Order: sequence, then structure tokens, then C-alpha cells
Amino acid sequence: MALACAVLFLQWRNVERGGITELKYASRLVATSLEVVMRKYESLLQLTGQRLLEVGGLRGDQRAQAVLDRLLARNPELAGFGLADPEGNLVLTSSNIDRSRLPNLRRTPETGASFSQALAAERMVVGRTYFMPALGEWVIPMRYPLRNDAGEVVAVMTTGLTLGSSHGLWSQHTLPPHIRFTVVRDDFYRQYGSHVAPDDRHLFYGRPLSPERVAFYEREAEARTGMTADQLRRLGRGVALYAPDYRNRWNLAYLVYEPRYHYYIATGIPVVKLAGRMAVPAAWTLFLLLALNAVLYFIFRAHGRLEQEAARRLEHLASHDQLTGLPNRRYLQEAFPAWRSACPQGFSILFIDLDNFKSINDLHGHSVGDVILGEVATRLGRCFGEDLVARQGGDEFIVLAGRRFDAALDRQCRDFLVCLRAPILCGEFSFSIRASIGVAQSPANGADLEELLRKADMAMYEAKRLRAGVHVYTDQLERRNERIGHIERALEPALERGEFQVVYQPQVEADSGRIIGVEALLRWDNSGLGPVPPDEFVPVAEAMGMMRDLGRFVAGKAVAEVAALAATGPGPLRLAINVSVSQILDPGFIGDLAAFQAEGGDLRLTVEITESLFIEDVEHARTVLEGLRAQGIGVSLDDFGTGYSSLSLLSKLPIDEIKIDKGFVRDILSDEQDHQLVRSIIGLGRSLGIPVLAEGVENAEQARRLAVAGCHRFQGYFFARPMTVATLAEFIRQWQERRPATMAIRSGS
Ligand code: C2E
Ligand code: CA
Ligand code: CA
Repeated sequence: MALACAVLFLQWRNVERGGITELKYASRLVATSLEVVMRKYESLLQLTGQRLLEVGGLRGDQRAQAVLDRLLARNPELAGFGLADPEGNLVLTSSNIDRSRLPNLRRTPETGASFSQALAAERMVVGRTYFMPALGEWVIPMRYPLRNDAGEVVAVMTTGLTLGSSHGLWSQHTLPPHIRFTVVRDDFYRQYGSHVAPDDRHLFYGRPLSPERVAFYEREAEARTGMTADQLRRLGRGVALYAPDYRNRWNLAYLVYEPRYHYYIATGIPVVKLAGRMAVPAAWTLFLLLALNAVLYFIFRAHGRLEQEAARRLEHLASHDQLTGLPNRRYLQEAFPAWRSACPQGFSILFIDLDNFKSINDLHGHSVGDVILGEVATRLGRCFGEDLVARQGGDEFIVLAGRRFDAALDRQCRDFLVCLRAPILCGEFSFSIRASIGVAQSPANGADLEELLRKADMAMYEAKRLRAGVHVYTDQLERRNERIGHIERALEPALERGEFQVVYQPQVEADSGRIIGVEALLRWDNSGLGPVPPDEFVPVAEAMGMMRDLGRFVAGKAVAEVAALAATGPGPLRLAINVSVSQILDPGFIGDLAAFQAEGGDLRLTVEITESLFIEDVEHARTVLEGLRAQGIGVSLDDFGTGYSSLSLLSKLPIDEIKIDKGFVRDILSDEQDHQLVRSIIGLGRSLGIPVLAEGVENAEQARRLAVAGCHRFQGYFFARPMTVATLAEFIRQWQERRPATMAIRSGS
């Protein structure tokens, strides 16, 4: 806009400059023609006057009138001729004038001044332009004093130039039509105006310029040139200015004073005309500016687009995971509020974590890991295409599904897990990926993203722990986790504080009814939590890495207590100790146990292991078991039937005893299938030559059935509850005296 104004202003100045040049030129032309006109009529009046005097014009001679009429015919622009005596009385006129209607020139206001002036002048005098009623015309009167040889004025020759005439040098035709000019007398009456409409002549010629108008011109002239009007007049310098004409129409005008005839010559161009000249350049300017604007606009827009594009790319980089191209955690946080409001009916958050991904990364390197993560992302997209899938980080992914967790979504999750297991080829390796999915739901589990993620994460861990694939968050899970938290905090100092104790549960031989050994079971009594069962705290201790110390405590204590007990009478006893997987995998484990075994004299040590040991690494497990056997330590396979190791493993591994899980024993009376299973396990043991122990035997009928099936050993509340070593000593003494259970089993067989 400012630029447009500036350009238009410059163009205006240009037009203005051109106008001024034109006006100066026109002004000179007017001055020249003025001079010519003056000279022409001066000599005309002078010569004619002298001729009239010669032919007796002052007496009103006929010949004199003929001279005037001839002259008038040759100069049609003139209104007529007259010869006045010095008193102002017209003594002779051309015949077109009715002399009787003419006033006395000296006494009439319009003519008096110039007439008197003529009497005193040496040369032609031009009077004010006025309306001559005798002729019905506006005329410019011109007078020439005629003198005798003594130099006295004897008559005044006078004529009038008509304004309406198209002839003569006063007319416009030498100037271009848009230029107008005005000749102003120094008494500020206008002598002639080229642009005055006939109706306006009274207004124009009938009175002088107002003093305000004159003052305005003088002020403007001074402002533009720095010179006073007087100085300008004396130097004959012109001045260009804007001025209103007699109808207050503004003009660009050029004023100059002509000292020879005491005239101001004003040439002018109406501002409207100048503005018209601006139209084309202004249109061009506007057009060019618009074009420039348009070009700039497109350039800026293109530039803006590029910047926007770059910003979008940066934004995408910041909000998306580079490896998988999935939205990242940041994106999730930002998009969540809008996403949530779009699902007023509720929604589900799936927290997906790959199983054992860390070991893939460790074993095969990160590039393989990256390929797998990329493929997982692809399969996630395929299975949850309508949902928001994001990468939480590492091997964790989030799916925001806009619906409640129902059978259909559960199905979808499990389908994904199946799809995930399809081999991923990476170089020479093929990977089958498993994952665990935790689910939290809104609004049931909360509305806040962090809270929902935390709960979904918790459910995911539960899914992993249970190997369930998918697990849905419940408040119970949260409470359990809280309890685990309490247990963790309480476990830390528990060993040092002596909160642990070992109890023993006797194991009975079916054939003889003798107590052949005991299983050591850990007890924890915490002041805050009360007695906490090992099922609950052992996994926590395991996760905390405490099991090694705890296991050593159990072994050490049990060996010491049972060895001492055995020495007091009952003879050699077998001591079974439960060991967790982490204990077995600990390289110092066998050495520790061997040392304890040595301390225990002729105490025979057995470790109870579970099938989960074989999940990790069968070959390593075999090495450990063989190491134990080499140290004379027995191995009992605990909780048999609950795991998933194949029965064929039994024949290949050095196992000394099979312990049927108490879950089967409990149900042999009610569930024929379990009964069948128990019988086949016993049969298997027999065929492999491995003794079978049934745990959890709670009543005589169970014992009887197991005995019938050929079970070798029993353990359970029916025989004895786990007890302290002091109670155990007394129990064994009484048992050997009565052997009541033996009798029962025997009678059942
Ligand atoms: P487990 O090795 O299967 O131990 C047998 C569990 O069955 C014991 O529970 C025992 O008290 C219980 N039991 C014995 N007879 C009966 C019966 O007739 N009916 C029923 N219902 N239960 C019976 P406990 O002592 O609570 O131990 C639970 C689990 O904790 C054990 O299962 C074992 O896996 C683990 N555990 C116990 N002590 C230790 C330990 O010192 N080290 C390790 N690593 N784990 C231990
Ligand atoms: Ca056990
Ligand atoms: Ca067991």
C-alpha cells in the first residue's frame, strides 16, 4: 500500500512537471501574441487617428466616417471605432454605432479611468473589459491619444475588441484546448479569460480579484519560490502553483508578470485534466503492483508451504518413531485428549510387550532386533488397522481401541498373537515372536492416559506371569500388586531380622509305613504382614534376587536341624529341599549344597525342582542335575503333571523321584480323569524305575487308591502337617511306636 502511494505520488509529480513545462511554454506564447496584438492595434489606432485628423474627423466629416467603416470591415474582431475629444465626447464613430447611445467616455465609470490614463499616456492604453450596451457586446477598449505638434492631446482614438470574436490573436486557437489562460490587469480586473462561458462574463470581468484571492496567490508564490510578489514581478519570474479559478475549479497554474503592459499572465490546466493523465500510468502502476503482489504472494505462499512442510516433517519426526514409523509416546500424549472425547462410549488401551525380546537383541544384535520390531509394527497395523497404534519404546507397543474390551476385541488380540508367531525371517534366522497383552479400560479403570497405561502395563505383567497371552486389568490385580509391594519392602530386612523359620513335613514309605524323610518348607512371619505363605513371597523374593541367600539359609538350617535330629535316634533321614530355578542356575549352587551335605553326616539330601527348569535350557539343566548326582544329591521332580515338559524327558534326565502334584491327588476321588492320570504317572514311574511320591494326601481313601495304583511314597496332612524340628522329633518317636497310617494303607490295599 505504501509502495503504491509512493509510486502514484512520483507519477503525479511527473505529470505535474510535464504540466508546468507546458504552461511555461503556453505562457510565453500568450505573452508573445499579446505583444503582437498590442503592437498591431497600437499602430492601427495611431495611423488611423492621424488619418482622421487629416480628413477632418474632429468635425465629423463624411470621409472620416468612410475611413473608419473601411477599417472595420477589414478587422471584424473589432466592435467599432470612435474618435473622442479630450472631454470624452465621441465626435465620430464608425457607422455601426449609434453615437447618441454612447455615454461620455470620461465620465462613465467603466471607461473613465482608462480614458484619463490615455490623455496622459504616450502610447496605447487598454481599458477594463466591459459590456458595451450600445453594441450589446463585451469589449476590450483600446485608446490612443492623438497629439498636435505642440504635444497636446487633441483627440483620443478608441476601439473595442469583441470578446465573442473567433478572430484575432486573443482567441485560443494557438494553444492546445486543455490549456486556458487569463490576462489580469494590475488593478486586478481581468482583461481576458480564454475559458469564460458567455454567461459568466459579468462574474468574471465585472469586478476585480478579491483581496483574499490576491493574498492567496502572493502567499503561495512566496511559499514556492521564497520571493515576494514584488521581487517576482521585478525579475519577471514565473511561479507554478495550484489555484482555484473564478468558479473555484482547481488548476495547476503558471503565473508571470508582463511589465511592458502591466499584465499578469496566468496559464492553467484543470487538475481534473491532469488527474486524467494519471489514469493510464496509475492503472499501470496498480496493475504492476497487483501483479507484483500476486507474484510475491505466490512466492511467499510457496515459501510458507515449504516451511510448513519442513515444520510438519520435524513435527512428524518428533512425534513418530523413526524405526517403525508409528506414532510415539509424545504423539500419544498429545492426541489422547481429542481421541478420548471422540470415544464417549468408552475405550480400551492395550499394552503389548514382546516376550524374551531382550535375549534376541543380546544374541543376534540390534539390527536383527530392529527388523523384528519393524515387522511387529507392520503386523500390528494389519491387525489393528482401525485403531491408534503407537510405539511406547523398546519392545513395548500401545493400541488405543475405541471400544470396550469384549469377546470380539479379545478375539482380535489373540488373532494378533497368532499372527505374530508366524516366522519372521532375518538373514539365516527365523524368529517366532510371542507377546503378552495387558488391557485397561476406560472409564472403568480411569480416564487419565498415564493411569490407564500403568494399569495396562500391570495387566501385561500378569499376562506374562500367567503365560496367558492376554490379561485384563482388575482392581484385584492392583491390590495384589500393592501387596507385592508391601511384601517386597518387608522381605528386604527379613532374613537379618530372623523372621524366617523352617518347618518339616514327613514323607512316608508305602510298603513299610516308615517315615523315610522330610520336606523342608520355609515359613515367614512378619510383624506387619503376619504369616505370609511361601507361595506368595517366594516368587517375590525370586524377582528381588533374594532367593539365593534365602535358599542357602533354608539348606543350612534344615541340614543342621535334621542332622541333629537324626543323630538322636530315628536313624538316617532323607531331607528334601525346594529350590527355585534361579538357585539351580546359580553356578555356586552345587558347591554350596555339597558343603551342606558334608556337614550333615549321613543325611541324604534331595532337591525338589520343577519342570519350569527345563523351559529355559534343557542341556544346562541336565549338566546341573548330573553334577548333583555326582555329589550324591538326589533330584525329585516336583509338581509333576502341571508343567509341559514331555514325559520322554524323564527317561533322559537323572531324576530320582517323581512328585505327583497335590492338585491331582486332591481330585482322584471326584475326577476319574485325574485318577487315570495319577495311575498312568505311577505306572510310568514304575516302568522307568523311578519312585513316585504323592503329595497332598489328606485322607485315607486317597491314600488307599494311591497305594492300589502302586504309589511308592506319601506326603500330606493325612500323615502329618509341616512342623517345627522340635515337634518333628516327638512325632517321629510316636510314629515308630504306633504306625497307625501304615495300618490304614495296608488295610485299604
Ligand atoms: P510344594 O513344594 O509343592 O510344597 C508342598 C506344599 O503343600 C506346602 O505348602 C505344604 O504345606 C502343602 N501341603 C502338604 N500336605 C498337604 C495336604 O495334605 N494338603 C494341602 N492342601 N497342602 C499340603 P507351603 O509350605 O505353603 O509351600 C508352598 C510352596 O512354596 C511349595 O510347594 C514350594 O513350591 C514353595 N516353597 C516352600 N518352601 C520353599 C523353600 O524353602 N524354597 C523354595 N524355593 N520354595 C519353597
Ligand atoms: Ca516341594
Ligand atoms: Ca509340590
